[in-house]
Amino acid sequence: MSRVFNFSAGPAVLPEEVLKTAQAEMLEYKNSGMSVMEMSHRSKDFEEILETAEKDLRTLMNIPENYKVLFLQGGGCTQFAMVPMNLMKNKVADYIVTGQWSKKAAAEAKIFGTVNEVASSADKNFSYIPDLSDLNISDNADYVYICQNETVHGTTIRELPNTKGKILVADVSSMFLSEPVDVSKYGIIWGGVQKNVGPAGVTIVIIREDLIREEVLPFTPTMMKYKTHADNNSLYNTPPCYNIYICGLVFKWLLKLGGTSEMKKINEAKAKILYDYLDGSKIFHGTVEKKNRSLMNVPFVTGSKELDAEFVAAATKAGLKNIKGHRSVGGMRASLYNAMPIEGVKALVDFMAEFEKGHAK
Ligand SMILES: *Cc1c(COP(=O)(O)O)cnc(C)c1O
Repeated sequence: MSRVFNFSAGPAVLPEEVLKTAQAEMLEYKNSGMSVMEMSHRSKDFEEILETAEKDLRTLMNIPENYKVLFLQGGGCTQFAMVPMNLMKNKVADYIVTGQWSKKAAAEAKIFGTVNEVASSADKNFSYIPDLSDLNISDNADYVYICQNETVHGTTIRELPNTKGKILVADVSSMFLSEPVDVSKYGIIWGGVQKNVGPAGVTIVIIREDLIREEVLPFTPTMMKYKTHADNNSLYNTPPCYNIYICGLVFKWLLKLGGTSEMKKINEAKAKILYDYLDGSKIFHGTVEKKNRSLMNVPFVTGSKELDAEFVAAATKAGLKNIKGHRSVGGMRASLYNAMPIEGVKALVDFMAEFEKGHAK
């Protein structure tokens, strides 16, 4: 067996310890005589898996009592529709567009109502976060929407927007559990787990109870109502049982490590190694304004497409996998999610330094 350093943006690296537990429990979970994959979602064993996962997530994120935790399917892209379907009372929402994922979310919301783009960084290819302290928030906006960490462009919103009293909805897919958050500042905070929490197939939605409504847009299917899932504890239909089980193991791993504040320190240390190198390099450079840099996704370029391609090929050969930038941006991108060990970042930087030596101008 030889595991590589996997810098994929998602699905992404998982903690080896979690995979080993899953391996050990693959054929028989505890004394059930079967795999978690084979169990009824109404069984005692699975109920306990689900309950424990929720309890541990509540501890990790310090989720207030008046918020529900939903384990849903359909990925991030389904939330782009569920949010407006469930929250658009006035059929108006304000979107802050800082990259591909908020742009897609805004485009989807336009199916359902009026979308005002109250801020955008499209003018500089989404390489920065605009000032969000005094936006022209619409009087009748049902909510204000952000993607807090733009996976493709590598930016993070560090100061939440001043929503002027409106509900804040945030997609945190690619920074989920990477650092502490104050859940009470959000109406909905949600993420697809395949970036930083687990295997593809689960989307976790944390929603303030007063936003779980009977009155949603007409023609909203049963499965698309938050209320359906909230009323049934995420067991309205068969949930992605095995994937929830893996998420639960990741939560245990994080708790053992010391929770999100410890995780943040580790993530900062990892990102610093790469950013410091980039800032001193003569051939590689980061593409994002320094103060808006993500701890999770680090895009960088050489300025030459040929050299980028040469680097990606050489890195891949050296066991540094999935380092190629998103097809819409090009260059390189290293995703340094929670489960990426610091050794992986060091190996990457060492490799980049060697490459730089061989290509000194
Ligand atoms: C990956 C990603 C999505 C889309 O998730 P899917 O599960 O593929 O639909 C949405 N938002 C962000 C920030 C992402 O990184």
